[in-house]
Amino acid sequence: MLSGFLCAGVWPARAQTSETNRCPLCWERSYPNGPCDTPLPKGAPVPGQPCKECDGQGGITNKADGIYDQIGCCNGVPYNPARQGCCDTGKGPPIVTTNSALVDPCEVAKNLPEYHKGAFGAAVCYNGHVTPCVFEDNIPSSWDDWVKDCIMAHEEVHASDPTYHCWKCDPHVGGWTNRQEGRAGECKAYRATMNCLATVPDSLEGKEELQRMTKEGIDENCTGP
Ligand SMILES: [Zn+2]
Repeated sequence: MLSGFLCAGVWPARAQTSETNRCPLCWERSYPNGPCDTPLPKGAPVPGQPCKECDGQGGITNKADGIYDQIGCCNGVPYNPARQGCCDTGKGPPIVTTNSALVDPCEVAKNLPEYHKGAFGAAVCYNGHVTPCVFEDNIPSSWDDWVKDCIMAHEEVHASDPTYHCWKCDPHVGGWTNRQEGRAGECKAYRATMNCLATVPDSLEGKEELQRMTKEGIDENCTGP
């Protein structure tokens, strides 16, 4: 009777969970070839679903919603730059917004404090996208367009900098997660302006002044700790 009991209890269970059968998502075996009776810990990743995680009880749950980050998640949906959407967690349940009716982010940026403080340009985040902007109204009108292009060169470096982050969906000037990355990012950008200015004829209005400002930026960000 004892051996018969074991047969009934053990062999069917093994047959059910042979190695060819994977455990369901968020479950694992507590011993090799055993039944899938152990839930994966809370927060364990779910393969192929970057915005889901295991809930610790064998279920699948949405990851916490995040504003645009490495993978921004919104209500279980990965942030998708191609959709020009963003996870809007401002009011009520998070939604993936669309900015298809978007006005020019550089126009929207005219409401930002950086603009009002007189910035020549900025890499403007809006709905997770970065747009390089030059703020013409803040630049002396006598400056040559060629010189202004060298301001754009600086913002373009930020816009394509993988360490430059947007923190929220609303228009804002992004930044870096730490000072070291920030200085490295500004260093690259000021150097781009300097390289650009090297191609500008000396006679052009604004070159000298921008060159001086750019040198200050390089001194501040490219040297020392
Ligand atoms: Zn900059």
